[in-house]
Amino acid sequence: MAFNCITPSVVFQEVPNEISLCFSITGCKVGCKGCHSTELWHEDNGLSLTNTNFIHWLKKYQGLISCVVFFGGEWQPNALIDKLLIAKSHGLKTCLYSGEKHIDINISQHLNFLKTGAWQEALGGLDSPITNQVFRDVISGKKLNHLFIKAIDVNTFNTNTDDANHSKTTLVDTNSFKNSLKANALAISTFENSTFEPYQFTQGANNVAA
Ligand code: SF4
Repeated sequence: MAFNCITPSVVFQEVPNEISLCFSITGCKVGCKGCHSTELWHEDNGLSLTNTNFIHWLKKYQGLISCVVFFGGEWQPNALIDKLLIAKSHGLKTCLYSGEKHIDINISQHLNFLKTGAWQEALGGLDSPITNQVFRDVISGKKLNHLFIKAIDVNTFNTNTDDANHSKTTLVDTNSFKNSLKANALAISTFENSTFEPYQFTQGANNVAA
């Protein structure tokens, strides 16, 4: 079975405070409605990411990156674990973005960071206070979603927000908008306080679809 990826790229926002080399693995079976990366659905897309190829990419970006992030690949745990171990042996942190709700502990034990949860347009991505998605520090178990939510200054009324799809939105100065910002800030605070529960790691091949 292929373990293919599209051409890796350096990303800055997916793992807060890290410069990451991002590998998007093809063959995703989650099937989120409104998926922004349908090219990842077909496992034959992209190029084979062998261990040798992976090491080549790490050497190419040696000294420039601090982390490796995989978009998917949990459906081939052995191939993914190989890459995580190699990344760690090169002194890099590791992160997995998954559309699943739970990830096998055989994978998660090799991760520093883990994002779980399918894309649901109505709930938004990690920068949304009502998102179903969760980004955690795997070592501490702490939820880190707050790092994706941009600070909002309700006194200046203006902010630029990079959303999960990296588009830029400029918000407008109106009284109604001022009120919505205040309500949103309260919702963020309430949400973060009410959902700070430890992640339940699971054993076995049980990547339950969200
Ligand atoms: S997890 Fe969902 S959003 Fe991500 S590639 Fe798969 S179907 Fe698309």
